[in-house]
Amino acid sequence: MSIYTLGHTNPDSDSIVGAISLAYLKRELGEDVVAARQGEISPETKFILEKFGGEVPLLKTSYAGEKVYIVDTTDLAILPKDILEATVLGVVDHHKLGDLTTSTPLECWIRPVGCSNTIIKEMYDFHGVKIPQDIAGMMMCAILSDTVIFKSPTCTKTDTKAVKELAKIAGVEDFKALGMEMFLVKSAVEGTSAKELVARDYKEFDMGGSKVGVGQLEVVDLSVFDDKKEMLFEEMKRVKDESGLHSVILLLTDIMTEGSQLLTLSNDSSKIEKAFGKKLENNEVWLEGVLSRKKQIIPFLQPLF
Ligand code: MG
Ligand code: MG
Ligand code: MG
Repeated sequence: MSIYTLGHTNPDSDSIVGAISLAYLKRELGEDVVAARQGEISPETKFILEKFGGEVPLLKTSYAGEKVYIVDTTDLAILPKDILEATVLGVVDHHKLGDLTTSTPLECWIRPVGCSNTIIKEMYDFHGVKIPQDIAGMMMCAILSDTVIFKSPTCTKTDTKAVKELAKIAGVEDFKALGMEMFLVKSAVEGTSAKELVARDYKEFDMGGSKVGVGQLEVVDLSVFDDKKEMLFEEMKRVKDESGLHSVILLLTDIMTEGSQLLTLSNDSSKIEKAFGKKLENNEVWLEGVLSRKKQIIPFLQPLF
């Protein structure tokens, strides 16, 4: 019977590439492991897979009775509904510890670094397994994505070191240029529906019993959203009503000027204002220097619930 590697729902490049790179490592170590995903891949991930010739992981959303390795989260809200009926053999993650529990001992690789693939790189080194050229290229891109080309406050020396080593294996000379190319792909939002944009990198969090949804779109120029705000708010309202959210937030992150325009609809906007010490204007506020949801948004919101 196969074992599956999987990341979170609304998979980002770290979740998809992490499933691929961890599955390969485990196969090299003698386990029968298949890379899986919980949803459609983003244009950015498509770019990475096409660039390095990676295969799209198997779409699989139910895991009762299966054995799994989980990458890039330990939050039940963004894991398959029946994950507690699976045997979790291991976790590789770089987020706050979530509410996943297991019934058996597990392998646990959790570190405060910028990307799960940085940790997977360390796992390859630990086991003395050579990383193939194509997988090295994909892992490098996943790290450049999660760390916003090293600009995110989540980025550590371990991440930059991993990117440099992976770039060498992948034969990529100018990894920063490739990173920019990748973010330009990510910024091409023209012709994309509001529904797809809000859902693209969207996560729900349980905050003291209240559901809070936080989406993020990282682009190289915020002006791409100038004529889209209204439809984004409409879609946020729909998501908020449908999922019974206390608050929904969408971060429009400008990776060049390094900050985020926060859009929100909330049952109690004062919580959002308190969290960031700023007044909302028409349900929006500019947050200078804010690039990271996990480090600069969630830890400030959570205590207010
Ligand atoms: Mg992720
Ligand atoms: Mg990640
Ligand atoms: Mg991200």
